[in-house]
Amino acid sequence: MSQKICIVGGGIAGLASAWYLQRGAAERGRALDIELIEADDRLGGKIVTHYIEDSIVEGGPDSFLTEKKSGPELCHALGLGAQLLPSNDAKRNFSIVHEGRLVPFPAHCRLFIPLNDEAIRENPLLSDAGKQAMANEVNVPARMDEEDESLSAFVTRRFGREVLDRMAAPLLAGIYAADPDTMSIMSTFPAFRAMEREHGSLTAGARAIAREGKGPGSVFTSLSGGLESLVQALREQLSCTIRLSTRLESLSGIQADRIILSIPARDAATLVHREHPALAEALREIRYGSSATLAMLFKTEDLPEIPGGFGFMAGREEPCAIHGCTWASNKFESRTPKDRFLVRVFFTDIPANEESMVATALSELKRLSGIDARPIWTRANHWKHGNPLYEVGHRETVARIYAEAEKVPGLSLTGSSYEGLSLSDCITHAKALAEQLLA
Ligand SMILES: Cc1cc2nc3c(=O)[nH]c(=O)nc-3n(C[C@H](O)[C@H](O)[C@H](O)COP(=O)(O)OP(=O)(O)OC[C@H]3O[C@@H](n4cnc5c(N)ncnc54)[C@H](O)[C@@H]3O)c2cc1C
Repeated sequence: MSQKICIVGGGIAGLASAWYLQRGAAERGRALDIELIEADDRLGGKIVTHYIEDSIVEGGPDSFLTEKKSGPELCHALGLGAQLLPSNDAKRNFSIVHEGRLVPFPAHCRLFIPLNDEAIRENPLLSDAGKQAMANEVNVPARMDEEDESLSAFVTRRFGREVLDRMAAPLLAGIYAADPDTMSIMSTFPAFRAMEREHGSLTAGARAIAREGKGPGSVFTSLSGGLESLVQALREQLSCTIRLSTRLESLSGIQADRIILSIPARDAATLVHREHPALAEALREIRYGSSATLAMLFKTEDLPEIPGGFGFMAGREEPCAIHGCTWASNKFESRTPKDRFLVRVFFTDIPANEESMVATALSELKRLSGIDARPIWTRANHWKHGNPLYEVGHRETVARIYAEAEKVPGLSLTGSSYEGLSLSDCITHAKALAEQLLA
């Protein structure tokens, strides 16, 4: 008799769970009957690619961080290896909005960590006192325990406040669309604390890694046809039953040996609250932030000049109505034809509608980069409560959730709420879960 598995949620976590289960079962000669249930009328969850005007426009994630291998590995396994597209690192530099203008982020840094003395001495973002604090990082005693702390506490403790506000927070908290004062270092960038323990300082650690040549090649990797080609390939290769436009309201009535909830923890809480209130309560401890992306396509000829680099992020102390901006045509060159230029603007303070988003974005782009043109096409994607906030103590929260989930026979949890929110993190976790269930 084949084992029946019901997967709820057709984002990358659910799709990857189904695919690794199917492949693992085939390798072991086992029969699995998998059903995947998705509330939306499409698969992919936060992965949304718009195909417009011969351009490829991402509405959610735009790439894998190359350092995390699971995303590109899954693409290879699906036969998409030839479509993997490295970011155009010749144009990798980006800027920070600082004192009302775009200031280039210093070269020779690994993220915000200085790889040589020039990255400190010539740093255009820091005052003399800020540079001194950055240079002094090698002398700050290393913290050896594994207790959590916020990103702000960590960076300030080692590098001082200016490095936090003008470099680390825009860069790192920007990725999570989170508040650095509450964001957990141990659940978001535990490698920094490991580096501190191992090398005594981040500066020493980053320089040792650079000497060994272990840094990534291109920082980001995407797919030439957009990230939705990953969703399409998964769908094509899955032989399971897929039910779209079906929002599961409760676990009761599902006939399955195993239910995998690959949905955000807040949705999982709604789903289980009647039958398993303690689990729902634990799931609700994870809070969510909202964000929105606005894609704007310009005619190249309408721009005074093509902006350089990958884009910019707003410094923490900076009054700026947008969170950041990617020059998407520079980041991945084949995204648009030569006569089009694609810009993606990020909001965490989200204007009421697309019209005011466009107006706000254009006014900030004019102020900061001199772009004074009308886009020929725009598209907003709202991610209301779309960003799980990995707050200080997140590991302990997740441990409490897992402990409650274990009390429910046949229930598993996966997805971006728990052990990493990047696409590759979701894939790593889905793969490990599949292995565990097939063991
Ligand atoms: C704007 C933005 C940019 C990002 N950029 C990047 C990036 O560049 N690189 C990167 O690695 N990561 C990025 N991320 C993070 C990454 O995209 C997400 O963490 C990841 O896609 C989440 O996948 P998931 O499968 O866990 O959840 P989701 O994609 O949210 O999928 C969950 C699915 O479950 C469905 N669902 C929910 N409740 C139910 C129910 N009751 N019944 C049935 N179905 C249900 C939903 O409709 C949804 O389709 C970004 C995120 C955002 C929002």
